[in-house]
Amino acid sequence: LCSRTSSVGKEIARNIIMALRSVRVAIIGAGAAGLAAARELRGEGHVPVVFEQAAGVGGTWIYDDDDADEEEEEEEEEEGHHHHSSMYASLRTNLPREVMGFLDFPFYSSAIINGDPRRFPCHEEVLRYIQEFARRFDLYGLIRFRTKVLLLNHLNKHKQQWIVRCRNEEEEEEYEEEFDAVVVCNGHYAEPRLAHIPGVDSWPGKQIHSHRYRVPDPFLNQVVVIIGAKNSGGDISRDIAGVAKEVHMADRAAPAARKLLPGYHNLWLRSMVERADQDGTVVFRNGGGSVKADVIMHCTGYKYRFPFLLPGNDKDDSAVVTVDDNRVHPLYKHVFPPRLAPTLSFIGLPFKVIPFPLFQLQSNWVAGVLSGRIQLPSEHQMMQDVTDLYSELEAMGWPKRHTHCLKYNQFEYDDWLADQCGYSKVEDWRKHMYDAVSEKKKLCPETYRDEWDDHHLLQQANQDFQKYL
Ligand code: FAD
Repeated sequence: LCSRTSSVGKEIARNIIMALRSVRVAIIGAGAAGLAAARELRGEGHVPVVFEQAAGVGGTWIYDDDDADEEEEEEEEEEGHHHHSSMYASLRTNLPREVMGFLDFPFYSSAIINGDPRRFPCHEEVLRYIQEFARRFDLYGLIRFRTKVLLLNHLNKHKQQWIVRCRNEEEEEEYEEEFDAVVVCNGHYAEPRLAHIPGVDSWPGKQIHSHRYRVPDPFLNQVVVIIGAKNSGGDISRDIAGVAKEVHMADRAAPAARKLLPGYHNLWLRSMVERADQDGTVVFRNGGGSVKADVIMHCTGYKYRFPFLLPGNDKDDSAVVTVDDNRVHPLYKHVFPPRLAPTLSFIGLPFKVIPFPLFQLQSNWVAGVLSGRIQLPSEHQMMQDVTDLYSELEAMGWPKRHTHCLKYNQFEYDDWLADQCGYSKVEDWRKHMYDAVSEKKKLCPETYRDEWDDHHLLQQANQDFQKYL
């Protein structure tokens, strides 16, 4: 019943399965992960309630061009009220839509309703797709919008039930509610991580994080140093180069000698920043020279943050999870804290992955474990698995902050989840297409979104999608 054959057949079959055990589950967040969780949990016979602080679904994909007063925004951030979205106006996806979509809900072009037909569409198109997913699977009725979860607490240590404390912004009221389980889907692209730059406190220029970047206009005629050359750093550098005087993209892996990027007169790749001086100079490492800059933009990623979890106490090990150098500890297979499994779980923590299919597989796993359809190992075995993972990472010389990076083993992880759930493995065309695009992106960062040669994979994908029509 659970193998991925036809979406409609499967949906019907799943809805008529009497779950072994049905529980009330709080889901925090109505981004792609929270919606996938809501669908899978309900399909398994559970009763999910989704808490979403925003007024709509989509999370990261809700573009927010709110040009709030900068000082006001800084104050808000200091108080922990972050704008959730990190989208910028020009953003197009870095994955082709065929790869990116949920496993049984293809990300077709919405061109017929004035959408964006491109393979790597703009952010508005992704939001439309997520909204369509919520409509198609009738999820809106499960969501409490403008309701922020403030605190999670154990109702009873033995029964492992949870009290969710939240605030409804509409009614301006706080209330508490009991749940059998909680699934955390709060996203991890909202809390900026800044590069440490010696001397920057007395450097007179302006610093911002890519989280707050929207459009290039404020950088007209400026000299901008961008730290980081990954997805956001690469895209934003090119965006800004259209108006700025000079853009210097600093990358840890770049050689000392600066390199002008092909097709530009003002965009250089530089070695990493070594320090910033009082006279406005930014100095690059390894004798890579210096530049007088107006702005440093940190495209340096984000931190995991769970402000609604009590920090606990180191002495009695009472913390639900800890976040140390971006390692969320301890989590069995990046999802379950062994001591609290299965009543607490986290969806969507891995990065360098194809997110939506992974959300779907993790969610199905959580739903199946909660109903008793799928068994977890003992707490001790799960802890051992966590410890083994840390030893492997250490042996590879990876820092803690790469614990949830699945750059080299996402498909192995996906297939392991699929196996647990009784799903078929992730399609071969999806794996090959992902690899082909990653390679193309490295070779042709300017054009990979508009020129491709994986036509045979595209054909296989479109054939495969026919069964979900
Ligand atoms: P989010 O989308 O962040 O959703 C989390 C939700 O939780 C939000 O709606 C938030 O309001 C809510 N929330 C948080 N805290 C609370 C609380 N206390 N109470 C109530 N609600 C709360 N992925 C791709 O597949 N392709 C791409 O091309 C791509 N490009 C990206 C570009 C950028 C700049 C960024 C930042 C990310 C990109 N991603 C891309 C990754 C993207 O984040 C994921 O695709 C996905 O949208 C993450 O979904 P999520 O549900 O985990 O988190």
